[in-house]
Amino acid sequence: MTQNSIQAVAYELVEQGVGSNVAVLWMQNPPVNALSKAVRVGLIAALQQALADDSVKVIVISSKQNLFSGGADISEFSGGDFEPPLPAVLELIENANKPIVAVLNGPAFGGGLEVALSCHYRVTFAANKVGLPEVNLGILPGAGGTQRLPRLAGVAQALDMIVSGRPVAAKKLAGVFDLVVEQAENLLKEAMAFCAALVSNGAAVKRTCDITIDPSTAPAELFAQYRQSIAKQARGFFAPERCIQAVEAAVSLPFDAGLVREGELFMQCMASKEARAQQHFFFAERAASHVKDYDKSTPVRDIQKVGIIGAGTMGGGIAMNFANVGIPVTLLELKQEALDKGLALIRKNYESSAKKGKLTVAQVEERMSLLGGSTSYSDLSDVDLVIEAVFEKMSVKQEVFKSLDAVCKPGAILASNTSTLDLNEIAAATKRPQDVIGLHFFSPANVMKLLEVVKGEKTSADVIKTTMMMAKKINKVAVLVGVCFGFVGNRMIESYGREANRLMLEGASPEHVDKIIYDFGMPMGPFTMGDMAGQDIGYFVRQSRQKFIKHDPSYCIIADKLVEQGRVGLKVGKGAYLYAEGSRTPIPDPAVAEIAKQEADRLGIKQRKISEQEILERIIFPLINEGALILEEGIAAKSSDIDVIYVYGYGFPVYRGGPMQYADEIGLKTVYDAMCKYRDELGEYGGHWFQPAPLLKKLAEQGKRFSDL
Ligand code: NAD
Repeated sequence: MTQNSIQAVAYELVEQGVGSNVAVLWMQNPPVNALSKAVRVGLIAALQQALADDSVKVIVISSKQNLFSGGADISEFSGGDFEPPLPAVLELIENANKPIVAVLNGPAFGGGLEVALSCHYRVTFAANKVGLPEVNLGILPGAGGTQRLPRLAGVAQALDMIVSGRPVAAKKLAGVFDLVVEQAENLLKEAMAFCAALVSNGAAVKRTCDITIDPSTAPAELFAQYRQSIAKQARGFFAPERCIQAVEAAVSLPFDAGLVREGELFMQCMASKEARAQQHFFFAERAASHVKDYDKSTPVRDIQKVGIIGAGTMGGGIAMNFANVGIPVTLLELKQEALDKGLALIRKNYESSAKKGKLTVAQVEERMSLLGGSTSYSDLSDVDLVIEAVFEKMSVKQEVFKSLDAVCKPGAILASNTSTLDLNEIAAATKRPQDVIGLHFFSPANVMKLLEVVKGEKTSADVIKTTMMMAKKINKVAVLVGVCFGFVGNRMIESYGREANRLMLEGASPEHVDKIIYDFGMPMGPFTMGDMAGQDIGYFVRQSRQKFIKHDPSYCIIADKLVEQGRVGLKVGKGAYLYAEGSRTPIPDPAVAEIAKQEADRLGIKQRKISEQEILERIIFPLINEGALILEEGIAAKSSDIDVIYVYGYGFPVYRGGPMQYADEIGLKTVYDAMCKYRDELGEYGGHWFQPAPLLKKLAEQGKRFSDL
């Protein structure tokens, strides 16, 4: 056995008999074996070496990392060196005149799977997963994946893999693999036996490009039905339709022409604003965990046991996150009845997951066994982290924190799930403000991926680090923010609701506003959202904020009137809309338009027809403007953090990348000019609410972007 290293691909000769060797090309580019330039160059060189060596009868491409390859090196997307392009490397592989076997020792994604598809044979183990997730970055597999996968996996399977981006277990891909071994640990041995059999049988090269797709397996209805089935989730995205067209090309065109079509569609995707946004978001999510508040040397506290105060809507959901990863939780309520109710609701949630086949009955019991209840603070003396989720009232929270201070062990982290209150005031109720932090979960807390981690004035670095790391463990995306009213997410959303209400006073209907916002890409418009959440929630927040809003007599006046008339939303069948018994479909109600008319008359506001552009700008731009203020104040460390909060916490369309990326895309000058226009056009109201943030003004004047900061 000899071995020499050719950059990122190691070359190994394995003797199988006299004058009969297998050349193994080991890709080795940690951490994910990305197909960076060095790997592509290495593959070509190693391939040439193997092809030139007469003793080599079979070539294997594999990896010694724990995955075969994670795909393209996406850091090369922005101005990287594309030479040699991956499709050219794959053409060399496919056209080689010695059998080439891809041995997938671990997952192969994107370009990684495309490498395997261009090989002549593929071997892996049953549980291994492969996929083409490019669609999640707003693009499509551009190295022959859309042409080769349908030829091997069948058109319907390939279509779903390429358009959904979802990985699939190897055992479900009979057409793709020539050998699927049961146990991963036997893979290498069996792969070598497979190679030996190829030699002894004199097996020929078996090129994917030579396979002809039987058109009867891909009738036009297949594509039509598929388009229909994904219409809702693909709404607004650019890439899914291009993925479908690429697979259609695999059916209708010869292989080479199909590759050309794939290339054209790939370039269309690459040039799209949606791809820019989705790639921005990919990096934004990863960047959220890079914070300056701690470093490698900062210690991490051990979180083995968790306490949660309040077993209501949020407390229950938060508890599930910990039980899901095996961390025991003690839930505390003042009354046994409330505790029983909270635990019963958690059980109901788990049981409904079990009914859908997402959990086994045993898993439900295992998770429930990790959830204990108590009505006594003394049971929290040994928890490492406690999260308070009681009523949103400062005096109640301070009482809770005083009690926690008295019973929790030194070093325990004391967290609050408050959505709006001043964390520093809560921390001041304890003698250990350095251990107090905000952990702002979003509802439903067991589902929503976002966690705003709120650092107080005195929160220590190790508490921040520990909670940011814990978030990963419970499968949340954490974003570190500072203290202010509503933190980042709820502070920004305030302008969104305010403007929707004001537009209605000025003559817009809730259904028109909601449609424009839905078409923009939000999961629902502000009025539907208000009804779903309960109009009373915003009402109570407004009651506690009179000081800040009383100068504007029009402020959310319609929402206030709705609540005062008992129209608190979906839960009572009427709010900004009407709802039929048991239905969630909003029905426009002329009585609401009447309220708006009366209030407008009372306030001297002349109702008018408002353009779609104005509605969209007045709802979205103040959100961006608030984001700029948040950046200036240092409440968020970077604009991409705000984007992560908005996509994961509020359903902002990922194909727009988040509000700040959207602003960068349309140009900050556009946003700034519109803010100035509405400030000047809307009289006193405009003067209050449409003052452009100084940072927005500065960047707009300099022709810069938020992402330049
Ligand atoms: P909830 O009314 O559903 O639950 C609160 C629970 O706390 C109740 O079960 C109540 O019995 C219990 N409780 C009240 N005082 C207590 C005390 N002193 N000791 C122990 N238990 C006590 O409320 P929720 O919606 O779960 O909200 C809880 C917190 O989470 C609030 O601060 C809220 O602002 C925040 N929050 C709520 C949401 C949301 O969408 N509901 C989202 C993010 C954050």
